[in-house]
Amino acid sequence: MTFNDLAAVIKKNKLKVDLTLLRLAYDFACEAHKGQIRANKQKAIEHPLRTAQILAEVSMDESTIVAGLLHDVPEDTHKTLKDIKDDFGSEVAMLVEGITKLGKLKYRGIDRYLENLRKMFVAMARDIRTIIIKFADRLDNLETLSALPQKKQIRIAQETLEIYGPIAQRLGIGVLRTALEDGAFKYAHRKEYDKFTKQISSRQDKLLQIVSKVQVQLKKELNNNNIKVIDCHGRAKGLYSLYQKLLKHNNDINQIYDLVALRVIVPTIADCYAALGVIHSKFKPLKERIKDYIAQPKPNHYRSLHTTVFCDLGDIIEIQIRDSKMHEEAEYGIASHWHYKEAKSCKPEEYLNWVKELAKWHKSKDDRDDYLQSLKIEVFQNRIFVFTPQGDIIDLPESSTPVDFAYHIHTDIGNQIVGAKINNNIVSLDEKLKSGDMVEIIIDKNRKGPNYDWLKFVKTRSARSKIRQYAKPHLWQRLKLKPWQR
Ligand code: MN
Repeated sequence: MTFNDLAAVIKKNKLKVDLTLLRLAYDFACEAHKGQIRANKQKAIEHPLRTAQILAEVSMDESTIVAGLLHDVPEDTHKTLKDIKDDFGSEVAMLVEGITKLGKLKYRGIDRYLENLRKMFVAMARDIRTIIIKFADRLDNLETLSALPQKKQIRIAQETLEIYGPIAQRLGIGVLRTALEDGAFKYAHRKEYDKFTKQISSRQDKLLQIVSKVQVQLKKELNNNNIKVIDCHGRAKGLYSLYQKLLKHNNDINQIYDLVALRVIVPTIADCYAALGVIHSKFKPLKERIKDYIAQPKPNHYRSLHTTVFCDLGDIIEIQIRDSKMHEEAEYGIASHWHYKEAKSCKPEEYLNWVKELAKWHKSKDDRDDYLQSLKIEVFQNRIFVFTPQGDIIDLPESSTPVDFAYHIHTDIGNQIVGAKINNNIVSLDEKLKSGDMVEIIIDKNRKGPNYDWLKFVKTRSARSKIRQYAKPHLWQRLKLKPWQR
């Protein structure tokens, strides 16, 4: 790969990047890495160059792409962070510093990795672009992983699947998440990967053929109904996420409907709903498979309409309908905030509340089990989204209860909760909430404080710590709580 290949991607994506500055950064990196050879026998400069290219592919800004070129300089060469700051300014230097600080701690499972994760969330809270550079860096490392010893291959692949994949998903960066996971899958689970590709690929290919036929029919139908189709294409679900989904469904592939999906991109939200109507008049939808993620976005802000339909030959396919902006956000998530100036459905900060929370805990004196548990819940566990009676969306970990919901709204609401309604039905305070539930909290202003028994079922860290603030230690010790419930 050459500098011109990088410049070509920048031109293709019409990025506002000063090519003279970029060239300077490239020359600086070349000079610094001069004579170094990587395990795959390539010149060392190839790797930062491709890292920068990936960042340009996802349309990141100038400083991030420059930092991508320089990201290994302080760690691997005689040039220092100060040299970078002198030549390229403090913003680029800060990004490179963030990457360097993530360190080279060896991954041995999440439990032993906490210190590195803490560092990562601190760096992310300071500037989220750090982790996006890390994703690009890792993605390129996966491409050349076969040159490394097997033990190292497995370690890097596992770290990618267990840490980077979930974080990319949480940030809504669909393209990077899939690329990272599928790149790591074969190294982390070699046998399953081989078996799985054999089992799935031919099936996906066959479905893609069906989809391409339906696609033609559908386009015509939408045009006849005066709905402009900006794009219509089939997409095969990422192998690793398919593998995960199959594990959840007892390996029954017949329960998986989105092996391949047909994506329809239309100009406006109104067109999305109109298109859904047209599609349902033409193809019979499966019951309970119509999902409106426009009215109820996923916690990572994913929006689309999904429906699963029988097409003419009796095959079942999933159709995803969205406008261009939603498509952009589904593919690039938080990274799309550096693309276009037009208003986004949410601000980058809204993606980042959880990052800030995790970074903050770093500063408090929580013990490691507590932090680990919180991490697993906040990042590595499924999230649900529920509604206030006013229609506001609240994002909570799976198995959260009305008490978690109440504390999420406000500490006083949590402290004064006496009852709850889910979808207008009275429920007990330990009822598990489900995505899409409308939750109403009943309070008693005279209530003095929380019930320590709630510690037995609350799920979120904020509820737990607020209940604890009230509790006298001798009281809650008597409850015989398990370590993570304390
Ligand atoms: Mn690197």
